[in-house]
Amino acid sequence: MAKRQIRDLLRVTPGGPVDLAAIDARSTPGFPDGVDRPKSWAGEQLQAIGAELAEHQERLYASAKRGGDRRRLLLVLQAMDCGGKDGTVKHVAGAMNPLGMRITSFGPPTDEERAHDFLWRIRRAVPEPGYVGVFNRSHYEDVLVVRVHDLVPRRIWSRRYDQINRFERELVDDGVVIVKVMLHISYNEQRVRLLERLTDPTKHWKYNPADVDERARWADYRAAYTDALARCSTEHAPWYVVPADRKWYRNWAVSHLLRETLEELKLTYPPPDFDVAAERVRLEQDDMR
Ligand code: AMP
Ligand code: MG
Repeated sequence: MAKRQIRDLLRVTPGGPVDLAAIDARSTPGFPDGVDRPKSWAGEQLQAIGAELAEHQERLYASAKRGGDRRRLLLVLQAMDCGGKDGTVKHVAGAMNPLGMRITSFGPPTDEERAHDFLWRIRRAVPEPGYVGVFNRSHYEDVLVVRVHDLVPRRIWSRRYDQINRFERELVDDGVVIVKVMLHISYNEQRVRLLERLTDPTKHWKYNPADVDERARWADYRAAYTDALARCSTEHAPWYVVPADRKWYRNWAVSHLLRETLEELKLTYPPPDFDVAAERVRLEQDDMR
């Protein structure tokens, strides 16, 4: 029997209903029962899984550099403010080799970006073959913040779900393996984390008074997230909802999602495109100077 995968526990079933209220943000799906000190155990596990991720990543990189493989991995992170996107990048993506990573944060579009279609800036940030890309926010903002704040009319944003699905299909057909993760925090946990940012002077820089205004629109965001998850969790690019009130579980779960996805690719090192023995002879004869 196949090993039970965290992916299967967290995936939003394509075409299925989505009820975020029914997912407890403090829950820990798939995390083993009876672990003594779950937080420190999860931390140790993360180390080990991180090393595995780095190995997969190297094979991915090598396959593209020397084997012409077009595959790459794209992790899309979405969350409400304080949901832990930055922490996930630091702790999970941080386990991999920066040389093979492409990390992009998406803020409000610049004038130049606004002059183009909403996917323009996204296309430019898609990782090249062999790379692991991370989107810290993404094209989904164009059906989230944009919808909640009426930044474009409904008739425009309502078409975007299909546009996004087609875009992602195109990427998948070109070798991009997409893992979309919504870090799911509770209303109360967001308050706790905002307060922490006020209490700790080294976190003041992270505090944005506008986040409190956004917080007042929690229900609108909930509705927008629900539609994005329901309409854009597809077979080719599924969404995963990771309960994220517990940071150690969040990191543990995201690292599992990546590992399971990479394992499935069965990456190998490309065979040499030169004669190893002949090269060895050349170097062995070169012991002068
Ligand atoms: P942060 O992730 O805290 O650096 O904040 C980035 C901000 O950019 C968030 O408030 C997002 O809502 C906003 N943002 C990202 N993408 C878009 C977009 N397409 N349109 C408008 N605002 C956006
Ligand atoms: Mg913010």
